[in-house]
Amino acid sequence: MLEYLTIPVTAFQQNCSLVWCSESRDAAVIDPGGDLPRILAAAERLGLNLRAIWLTHAHIDHAGGAGELAQSHALPIIGPQEGDQFWIDGLPQQSAMFGFPPAQRFTPTRWLHDGDSVQIGRETLHVRHCPGHTPGHVVFHAPQIERVFVGDVLFAGSIGRTDFPQGNHEQLIASIVEKLWPMGENTVFIPGHGPESSLGRERLSNPYVGGT
Ligand SMILES: [Zn+2]
Repeated sequence: MLEYLTIPVTAFQQNCSLVWCSESRDAAVIDPGGDLPRILAAAERLGLNLRAIWLTHAHIDHAGGAGELAQSHALPIIGPQEGDQFWIDGLPQQSAMFGFPPAQRFTPTRWLHDGDSVQIGRETLHVRHCPGHTPGHVVFHAPQIERVFVGDVLFAGSIGRTDFPQGNHEQLIASIVEKLWPMGENTVFIPGHGPESSLGRERLSNPYVGGT
């Protein structure tokens, strides 16, 4: 079975998630933006074997700790899609600009694309490319537990910002409508910030995409 624990990290309270296969206890870390000691302590308390870093996108609060964690624990960095290369290259500047500890650039072990899948233990998650907030943004869908890790695509009652370089509002709306809604109204999403919600609830009441 697939299980997960969400740990808000950094001054931006970014929802880093540990996801693991309960049989093998192999785990992936989604979006280790920072506060690595807290993430590692949680993994140890749960008896998890860290196997990979998965990234939804390369903003500092999501990817700021990825390079350091990959190096210290010899983990592959998987994702995002290569449209976020310029954000990865800019991580040192992003960390200085937002007052984060110095962040390292890195080269992902594997870029992700729409329709790919990622594996942890005996569990598989499906990758969808959801550009708009950033051009290389991806989400990780776990239909076996009706969950999707959406980064900064969709929030409870809101959507991702599109006023950054290469952000695109129309593209973001299309990502939500064409990629997320088909996952089903009962699917619960884990956003990059704030509380979980269901796709069905947002489709009804979200002021930006309600009724789409
Ligand atoms: Zn972001």
